[in-house]
Amino acid sequence: MALYVEKYGGTSVGSVERIQAVAANVAASVREGHQIIVVVSAMSGETNRLLGLAEEIHPNPPARESDVLVSTGEQVTIALLSMALDAIGVPARSYTGGQIRILTDEIHGKARIRSIDAANVQNDLEKGRVVVVAGFQGVDAENNITTLGRGGSDTTAVAMAAALRADECRIYTDVDGVYTTDPRIVPEARRLDRITFEEMLELAGAGAKVLQIRSVEFAGKYNVPLRVLSSFEPGPGTLITYEEDAMEEPLISGIALSRDEAKVTVRGVPDKPGIAYAILGPISDTHVNVDMIVQNIGLDGMTDFTFTVGAADLKRCLKVLEPVVEELGATEVVGDTNLAKISLVGVGMRSHAGIATEMFRALSEKGINIQMISTSEIKISVTIDIEYAELAVRTLHKAFNLEE
Ligand code: ADP
Ligand code: ASP
Ligand code: MG
Repeated sequence: MALYVEKYGGTSVGSVERIQAVAANVAASVREGHQIIVVVSAMSGETNRLLGLAEEIHPNPPARESDVLVSTGEQVTIALLSMALDAIGVPARSYTGGQIRILTDEIHGKARIRSIDAANVQNDLEKGRVVVVAGFQGVDAENNITTLGRGGSDTTAVAMAAALRADECRIYTDVDGVYTTDPRIVPEARRLDRITFEEMLELAGAGAKVLQIRSVEFAGKYNVPLRVLSSFEPGPGTLITYEEDAMEEPLISGIALSRDEAKVTVRGVPDKPGIAYAILGPISDTHVNVDMIVQNIGLDGMTDFTFTVGAADLKRCLKVLEPVVEELGATEVVGDTNLAKISLVGVGMRSHAGIATEMFRALSEKGINIQMISTSEIKISVTIDIEYAELAVRTLHKAFNLEE
């Protein structure tokens, strides 16, 4: 008998029929004699719908209330799935994040899990019940509802698996594994049997939304065996693994595309020590993550300072920077969401030179202009005009022979 955490994403619970199919899938695991904890997302489109309602009511919705609102999506699916399980004779109990006591910090909208009280869950499992947990949500020390950031149900699942020392955390979604790139963009993309934690971390961080980055971090940190599979069809999926040398190391494992990027440029900044701190300090104080940073060489004592953040954080950034621009005597601050980030990821990069050059050559042959570049040991990212995003991914997928 094993203990599995099974997570089902939005599309997988997107209708009554899909919820019934998930119940059947869970029932099959139970019949095999396993203990099962299920983590579910909201029905597909629901989180966006709720966020849309908030925007209609308030130009800048209070983060605490926003979390109270969006967390309702997952409360609906835990109840419906538990009913669907009961209807086919599988005893089940649903719990919100607060009921399990998934304790988080108090950063609304991107809270981090601090601890999980596994006692309730353990008790139910011992009584032969399936435990159905609402993904994406927790409570802070004062019992305020918090959410874990978009795609956060993945992280709930891995955290539950870590807390209960599950044998495997299975992320069931609408694709049958992790591919060399988003199969919706490149139909020739190839499913990977395995991918290392390190590579998955870079891909997820670069925007491949098949796993939320924090879930991969968590799985790596707590040694949780993690697998991505399809909720629509049986198959082995993709195992996220430590064993780098057990496989033939490809040069590039995958390409990620993120369209949720925004570029912030502070123009006409006096070129003197402390600029980066003066601009980025207040941004980091508002818990916004800065990704790429470019400070141009000063000309006549003036420079431009550019960085990227998640598109959802742009409004907040511009607001925070208004007084900073004034204080620094800079000309202006402008935002732009018309860009995409493309990242190549592969552990093979460590031992091979020339990958960046090949990437730039392939893009230039298609006339795609590169705006910003950043690199890590196993990743190269560039930002380009959003209009060319899909062309760039297809071009690179071909240039690096990933379909083979
Ligand atoms: P869920 O609702 O189940 O959490 P998501 O939409 O968050 O599902 O993630 C699954 C989607 O991730 C796929 O439908 C696919 O379009 C996208 N995706 C992006 N990059 C990849 C990749 N490298 N491999 C597989 N899927 C990817
Ligand atoms: N429902 C949340 C979202 O849409 C969490 C998740 O699906 O993982 O981001
Ligand atoms: Mg997801």
